[in-house]
This record gives sequence, C-alpha cells and structure tokens, in this order.
Amino acid sequence: MKAFVGANIIDVKTDSVLPDQVIVTEGPSIVQIAANDQSSTINIQNMDEVYDVSGLTVIPGLIDCHDHLASKNYELMSRWNLDEPASTNSIRTYKVLEDTLQSGYTTIRDAGGLDVGYKLAIEEGLFEGPRLVLAISIMSQTGGIGDRVSGSGHTNTLVTNPMLPNAVVDGEDEILHKLRELVRCGADVIKIATTGGASSRKGLGPRDTSFSSSEVRLIIDESARLNKKVMCHALGGPGLRVCIEEGVHSIEHGCHLEEDPDLVKIMADKNIFLVPTFTVYDYHKSHSAPHVQVRAQQLIDQHRRSFELAMKHNVKIVAGTDAGGFIHGDNAHELELLVLNGMTAMEALKAGTITAAECLEMDHCVGSIEEGKAADLVFLEGDPLKDISLLRDRNNLKHVIKDGKNIPLSKRMI
Ligand SMILES: [Zn+2]
Repeated sequence: MKAFVGANIIDVKTDSVLPDQVIVTEGPSIVQIAANDQSSTINIQNMDEVYDVSGLTVIPGLIDCHDHLASKNYELMSRWNLDEPASTNSIRTYKVLEDTLQSGYTTIRDAGGLDVGYKLAIEEGLFEGPRLVLAISIMSQTGGIGDRVSGSGHTNTLVTNPMLPNAVVDGEDEILHKLRELVRCGADVIKIATTGGASSRKGLGPRDTSFSSSEVRLIIDESARLNKKVMCHALGGPGLRVCIEEGVHSIEHGCHLEEDPDLVKIMADKNIFLVPTFTVYDYHKSHSAPHVQVRAQQLIDQHRRSFELAMKHNVKIVAGTDAGGFIHGDNAHELELLVLNGMTAMEALKAGTITAAECLEMDHCVGSIEEGKAADLVFLEGDPLKDISLLRDRNNLKHVIKDGKNIPLSKRMI
C-alpha cells in the first residue's frame, strides 16, 4: 500500500477542495481517503511507501475525449505514412503516448488513426501510456472526411495497415460490414462524420453534409447492438441536425450549433455530449493551409457563441483537443481555452475529468478521486482553480500516478 500525505484534493463531484488529506492506494485502486489529523484511522506505519505531498494540489488523472495520438501533421505525405519508415513512425507514436501520460493525461479517447497495438502494449505493461478508448478509423461516405484523396484524385494504396481499415462506406451493406470490421480491429467507439470540417479539402466545408439520416440511424442501431457508442464529427448545417436528431452519443466540434438554436435543446434532452475542441481551431487559424485559415477564423466567434448556448442549456460539455496535426502533450491547453471562452476553472476541470469520464462511460472507475476508483492522480504545485493554465506547465507537475503506479517524469522528447 502507498500513502500520499497532506495534499489538497480537488473534489470534482462536490465542487469543493478537501484540504490536507491522506490518500491510500493498493495496487491500481484508491482504497481510503481521510483527513490528515488525529481523527484519521490510517496507520502510516503499515504502508509500503509514504509520499509527503503536503501543500500540493491533487486532481484526478485528466481525460481528453478527442485526440489523434498517431497523427503528426496535416501534410499528405505524413497522413499517408509515406514520409518516414513505419518503424520510426511507430516509435514516434510511442513517445507521444508516453509524453501525453506524463502531462497528467491518464485517459484518452483517440478519435481515429491509432491502431489497437499500442493499447495492447500498454495493457501488457510494455510501456507506460494513457488508458485508451479507440475509434480506429473514421467512417464516412465517399467524398467525406474519412475519404483521403490527393489533389490529383489518387488514394493511398502504397501503405495499408489491416488494423486501420479504410472506412469509406456507401449504403447499408458496406456500413454493416465496415462497422463490424472496425469492432474486430479493436474499436471501442464508432467515429463517423456527417459534415466536412475546417481542415477538409476545398469543397467539403463545415456545413456540407455527408451521411443521410437513414445511414446515421443504421450506424447508431448496429453500434448499439455491438454495445458501442457513436461519436460524430459535425460542425453545422443539415449534417449536424441529422446526427443530433438521430441521437449520436457525442458531437465533436459543433461549431455552428448557434445557427440552429433548437439543436442544443435536443442535445440536452437526449443527453448528447458536446466536445468543442477549441484547441484545433486555435491552431488552424494561424498555421494551416490558406483556405483552412480562412475557415477557422470565420468559425471561431461562432464556435464561442455555440459553446455559450450549449452551456446555457446545460448540455454536457467535455474537453477534447483534436490534437494530432500539431503539438502533442499540451492537452491541458483545451482546459485553458474552455475558461477563456466562459467556463469557470472548476467547470473546465470537470469537463476534463468527471464529465469526460461520463462521456466515455468510465465514470465508475475514473474521473474523480474516490475510494474504489482507479488511482489516477496528478499532484501539482499551485491551485488550478485560481489559474487553470498551471496545468500546461510541466514544472508544476510533481507526481503523475496511473493505476497506482508512479510514472517517471522524464525530459520531453517530442
Ligand atoms: Zn478529430
């Protein structure tokens, strides 16, 4: 057993701070939490390891509900894995996973592009990485965002990974086949796209629609039969309406929600989560291809208004970066942007812990510091409720614990 003595727990379930606490872990779990005073029944002498963490703040391991851990940048050569040997690329991904965990992110939902091998290797203990929830590949119809074609109309047939199947599907038979194939490849969640996006090719904009309502219905029904939820990339226009009305589990981006204000009410009624991903648009507005910069700039203000509207109607909002075309390991930037766009620090912290755990249907085991839950703990200097940006600075992170294991915090390699 290990005891962590003296930290101030941020309790995201009661929106409070519990000062000077003792947390006892046994194996991968938290077994006891008590105030560090005479009333405590915890006998420190019985512990195998004791950590003096007095004065530090402890938060639950952080959760990013939308990442692309295997993506390195937006260049076509990189997207098609043609720019370096597969082995180099794989080691680079391994470093991203290791570094992301060291940044305090103990659970990540990967929204496409990461094959199940990394998850199996982490579970086997070959290296330390976050707990993973995988979408494997993005399902879209021909011409949708999952259909990656070059400017000349060519598709990539040079590098294929059978564990990352091409998920371009048209019509019922193809949808059923692909969905079952994705589950065979280890998909924990089904990712679809019903609109274009900021980074998609010219002609496939954020309000251009993709799957029809009957196709979305079929995907949701078959996913439910296979005990999977559907996360849906949708920015605006009829494609956004279709997936909300049909009742997907989470909306990724949702930037133009405010153009159809009734949609946030439907989201609240149906308990559909919103994953705004402010980080990616912050990046696109200054770093991407010219047509992408223009799109991102146009949608940023509207995105904020959509977010405010969703908050007003009590839509459950969770943190997701959509990282992968740019920096990795700075996932806490999203929490800072959630605050800049109108959340309190506690609300943002919940969006990156307990509400995110609910979105992943893992709130029984992660997302808050409670007896019986996984010992996923981040000890840091300073109070993120006063300044959420503290979480972005690695110098403030003193211990990252995942499943009760102390993760060595090494120098950043990426
Ligand atoms: Zn994404």
